[in-house]
Amino acid sequence: MQTSLRHPSSPLAPFALGCVYFLMASAALVSSRFEGGLAFIWGANALLMAYLLTSRTSDWPGVLIACAVASALSTALWGMGLSAAVPMACVNLLEALIVALICRRFAPGGKFAGSMQPLFVFVLALCGPANLIAGAAAASVASTVTDVPFGASLLQWYTGHVLGGLTCTPILMMLMQGELRRWFGQTSRRAKWEAMCLLLMFALATAYVFYIAHFPMLFALLLPMVAIVFRIGNLGAAASVMILAIVGGMATLTGHGPLHMIPGTLGERMQYFQLFLAFSFLLSMPIAAELNSRRRLFQMLQESEARYRAIAENSGDVVLNISVAGIIEYASPAVAEQIGCAPELLVGQDAADLVDPKDRDQMVAALHRALAQPGDVQTVEFRPFISDEGREWCEMLVRAVVDERGMPTGLVSTIRDMSRHKARQRALQQAAALDSLTGADTRRAFLEKLEEEMSRVRRGGRASLLLIDIDHFKAVNDCHGHGAGDRVLAGFVERLRPGLRGVDSIGRLGGEEFAILLSGTDVERASMICERLREMVSAHPVRIDSGEMIRVTFSAGLVSLGSQSDGQAVLDAADKALYNAKHSGRNCLRLAA
Ligand code: GH3
Ligand code: MG
Ligand code: MG
Repeated sequence: MQTSLRHPSSPLAPFALGCVYFLMASAALVSSRFEGGLAFIWGANALLMAYLLTSRTSDWPGVLIACAVASALSTALWGMGLSAAVPMACVNLLEALIVALICRRFAPGGKFAGSMQPLFVFVLALCGPANLIAGAAAASVASTVTDVPFGASLLQWYTGHVLGGLTCTPILMMLMQGELRRWFGQTSRRAKWEAMCLLLMFALATAYVFYIAHFPMLFALLLPMVAIVFRIGNLGAAASVMILAIVGGMATLTGHGPLHMIPGTLGERMQYFQLFLAFSFLLSMPIAAELNSRRRLFQMLQESEARYRAIAENSGDVVLNISVAGIIEYASPAVAEQIGCAPELLVGQDAADLVDPKDRDQMVAALHRALAQPGDVQTVEFRPFISDEGREWCEMLVRAVVDERGMPTGLVSTIRDMSRHKARQRALQQAAALDSLTGADTRRAFLEKLEEEMSRVRRGGRASLLLIDIDHFKAVNDCHGHGAGDRVLAGFVERLRPGLRGVDSIGRLGGEEFAILLSGTDVERASMICERLREMVSAHPVRIDSGEMIRVTFSAGLVSLGSQSDGQAVLDAADKALYNAKHSGRNCLRLAA
C-alpha cells in the first residue's frame, strides 16, 4: 500500500488539507446547527480519515495539527464558541485516529473501496468504538456549553459523523490513491462516455425525485444506483453516493424533496436523509467490492489458464482433461506423437479405452481415487491399448479439479511413456537376481522360486531339491589361489547346466554351496539326475589360468518337496542330508529322512 500512496511529504500538504478541512467544517457548522449545538452534517472528518488511511504514519503529525487548528477555528467562529474550540478539536482528532489505527491494525494495506474485508473493518470501527467514544466526549462538551441535552447531542454527533464518514471517506480515499486518474487512463472512450451518461442520468433522476416528484420516490434511485455499480465499479458507487449526497442534501436543506413530506424538524429530516445515504452506501459499496474481487479473480484465472495451456501444448507428456464420468474433454498435441492419434479423435472417448483391458480396472480405480481425494495426485502405470513402436508402459498422474465448494468437477492428467524406464528396471532386476561369478540365481531369487514351486506342489505337483557342496574346496584355494577357486566355481556351474532342463533352477546359496530345484521330478528321478551331474563334473575338469586341470567332486543332500512348511524347512532338511553325505566320505548323495 505504501508504494501506492501519492501524498508528497511536502510541508504544504498539511496546510492545504487544513484549509479544506476548515472549509468543510465551516460549511457544516453554518448550514446544519439546527438546534444550536453540534452540527447535524459532518464530512470534514471523512477527509482526515481518508488521508490517515492512505498515508505513512510519519506524515500524520503535521496533518493532525493542521486539522486540529482548522477544527478549533471553525468551532470558535461558527460553532459553540471559543470555550468549546480546543475540546471539539481533540474529539474530532480522536474519532479519526481511532478509525485509522483500527483499520491499520486489522486491515493493513487495504484499499477498502475495492474489497470486502477492509471495508467491513472500516464500517465497524467507524460505527463502533470511534463514534461511541468520540460521540460521548462531544456530547459532554455540547451539553456543558449549550442548552442541548446530552442524549440529543450524542445522536446528532453520531449520525452526522457516521453518515458523513461512510459516504465521503471511500471516494476521498479513491481520489487520494489516484483511482480516478487510473480509471481515466485505463478505460476505453466508449466506457467513459457510458459512465458519464449513466451518472448524468442518475443526477437527473435524483433531481427529479428531490425537486419535482409529488410522491416520495426515494426507492426509485436504488435501481439506477445498482446499475451504475455493475457498469462502472467502485468509482461509480462512490460517485453516485456523492451525487445523492449533494443533490439530496441541498434539496432537504432548502425545504424540497420527499423528506419534507414527513413531520419533524429540519434536523430530524437531515438525520433521516443521512440514514438513507448510509443505506445507499451500504448497498452499493459491498457490491462494488465483491465485483472488483471477482474481476481480479477472473483475471488471475485467465492468466493461470494461459499458463496451463502453454505448458499443456508444449509439453512432451500428454495432458488430458477428463470429465467426472471419465470422458476425455481435452487432449494436448503431444498425443499425436505419444499415442499416434490426432488429439481431436480422443475428445469424447472414454479414458479407459486408451488402456489395455488387462490394466483397465486399475486405471478406473485410480480415477475414482482421484475424485474421492481431490487434494492428492494418483499415479497408475498401464499398458496403452493403441501402442505404436515399442511403447509398452505408460504412467499417468491424475488429480481432481474442484469447484469453490471443494466438489470435483473433472480431472487433469499427464501421461508419459515409461517403456524405457521399465526396460531398465527389468534389466536391473534381472542383474540383481543372478550371481555375478557363476550366473546361477542369487540366494534370494532362488528362495522366491522355491516358494513358488512349493505352492505349485501344494496344488498337486511334485518337485525335488538337491543341495550341493563342493568337496574340499578350501584345498583348491589353498593350492592354486583364490582366482583359480573362482574359475573352478564358474566352471562347476557350467558343467551342471547341460544336465538340467529349462524348467529347473540352480542357485548359489553361498560360497561353494549350490541348490538345484528339479520341477515335476520325484526323488528317484532326482537321484538319477544327481548321478548324471556327478559324472559330468568329474568327466570335465576345469582348466585354470596356469593351464592345470582341476577336478572336483561334490556331496549332495536330496529332499522331496511336499510336507515342509516353507522353503527354509526344505533347505534345513536338505542340509541334514548333505551333512550325512559329507560324513559318509563325501562325493555321494544322501536322501533326507
Ligand atoms: P568340505 O568338503 O567339508 O565342504 O570342505 P571345504 O574345504 O569345501 O569346506 P568349507 O565348505 O568349509 O569351505 C568352503 C571354502 O570355500 C571356504 C572359502 O574360502 C571358499 N570360498 C567360499 N566362497 C568362495 C568364492 O567365492 N571364491 C573362492 N575362490 N573361494 C570361496
Ligand atoms: Mg565344501
Ligand atoms: Mg561349504
